[in-house]
Parts: sequence; structure tokens; C-alpha cells
Amino acid sequence: MTTPPICDYEGSDYQASFWDKGGREYEDRAEAIALKRLLPAQGHLLLELGAGAGRNTTRYRGFERIVLLDYSRTQLEQAQQRLGKSDKYVYVAADAYRLPFVAGLFDAATMIRVLHHMADAPRALGQVKDVLSSDGVFILEYANKLNLKSILRYLLGRQKWSPFTRDPVEFVKLNFDFHPKAIRSWLKDMGFRIEKTLTLSHFRIGLLKRIIPTGILVFFDSLAQWTGAWWQLSPSVFVKAVRRDARPEPSRRGIPPYLHGQDTILSYFKCPDCSHSPLVDKSDFLECPGCGKKWGVKDGICDFREPIN
Ligand SMILES: [Zn+2]
Repeated sequence: MTTPPICDYEGSDYQASFWDKGGREYEDRAEAIALKRLLPAQGHLLLELGAGAGRNTTRYRGFERIVLLDYSRTQLEQAQQRLGKSDKYVYVAADAYRLPFVAGLFDAATMIRVLHHMADAPRALGQVKDVLSSDGVFILEYANKLNLKSILRYLLGRQKWSPFTRDPVEFVKLNFDFHPKAIRSWLKDMGFRIEKTLTLSHFRIGLLKRIIPTGILVFFDSLAQWTGAWWQLSPSVFVKAVRRDARPEPSRRGIPPYLHGQDTILSYFKCPDCSHSPLVDKSDFLECPGCGKKWGVKDGICDFREPIN
């Protein structure tokens, strides 16, 4: 099955070079505030798409269980070291364009700094919609092409692409910025209702970050975040969208598995190739009775990227 090209962080020291030593404490703390404002205080099962090394995962502590998904196995290994192996965390290496989960499974999902690398954003968003339950909450962060810096650069003739058009811009290979109107129309067309929009990182300017204490920048950013309800001109935008089904499918009217004592992790999965579920647990791998493919399980990470046959 062909999928769009994937931005793979395998073997990357992204967590250390970008977050820990990259002078991004301001952005990280602004994100923590936005997540607190948008996430339900508690829930059952949350899917973290593009979890990386688990930088945000502990911020979802109100959920009973969190499924960390990333395309890079080494990123998930770093997350395991940070969070430990416990029943609370499930580690899954998989392609966001081919999610290995049964429909309607999650009551919440987050995708932070991930859409930025998606060549086919609507396809990835559609996958998230499918695995959310009716009334499921989706917290999406995207990089905004209509930010003040790009508008100024464009008006001064220093940037070729227009920030005003709706199409995504790929400014570096597999790095995309999106127009807020495009994101809104994709989500609405899929049946999401947008409940809140916050703008972030208003002060992502090297000079400001060097001369103004981080706590002060974070404070003013936290106030400015609310202006996202009226306009979005910052480089990063957070959206809270809720899945609304006009007519719930029969399968979604039932009680989700985690509420009637069948919350085995195996019941979460379907085959990403043929969509068959349930898979059969063979200890070292999960076997698909539908197409016969075997999906590896090693050191607590379920790997749905390529079958091991
Ligand atoms: Zn299969």
C-alpha cells in the first residue's frame, strides 16, 4: 500500500538538540499551558500521535491509559526510558496514514508539532477521526503560514510564497505550514466541531528570547493565547475539535470496550493492511487472521510499520 512520504526521526537526537539544549523552554512552557486549557481533566484512553520521546506525555496524566504512537522506534525507546514500562503507557510504532486501531476506540487524541511533517494532511486527520469515539476530543497543533513574520517578509519581497493562499507551503522538504482556514474547513468537512482555538509562541523571536526572562514571555504568551478565538497570526496554533456524528453508526452506540471489562490492549488493534480485527497474540508478534501478516512486538513496542514475514 502506498502512503505519502514520511518524515522519520529514527536515530534522531531531536529531544536533546531541539528541546533540551535548543533554547525552547519558552515554547515548551507555552504548550503546557495550552494543553491544560484544552484537554479534558480526565478520561479513559488517549492517543498521542507523534509522541516522540514523550515530552508532552506526562501532561496527559488525567487519562487512565495513553497510547504513544510514533514512526520512529528509537524515539519510543527514549520515551520508555523517560516514562518507564507500566500498564499506563502503550508504545506503538506505526504510520499515521495507516493507523492500526479499531474504529471509535479513543476518547481523546493529540497531535502536536506533527502535522507540520504531513505531506497529505487531510488523510492523516481522517485517520484520527476514524479512531475517535463520538464526542471524542482532538487537540491539534499546526504551524501557521499566516503568521506576522511571513506576512511582513512577503510584503517586503523577501519571501516568494504567499501567506494568504489556502494551500499548504513546503518551505523545507517535509516541513509544511498551513492556512488556518484550510485546517478549519478540513476538520469541519470531516464532522468535527471546533470548540476552541489558541494561538501560541507570539514571541518566538531570537532577540526577545535572549533579553527577556522566559517566565515573563510565557506569562504574556498565556494571555495572548486567548486572542486565537478572533485571529490567528502566531507561528503555532492549537485547536480543540470534537467529533460529532450526525447519525452515530450502530457500532458506536454500544458501550466502548474499556467500560465493560474487556480493556485488553489486544482489543485496541486492527491490521493496518487489511483492517481485520482482532489480531492474535503470538507473544513475539501479533498475527492477522485476515491476511496472515505478522506485526512484531519487541521490548514493549508494537511495530506496525512493516510486517515481519
Ligand atoms: Zn491483515
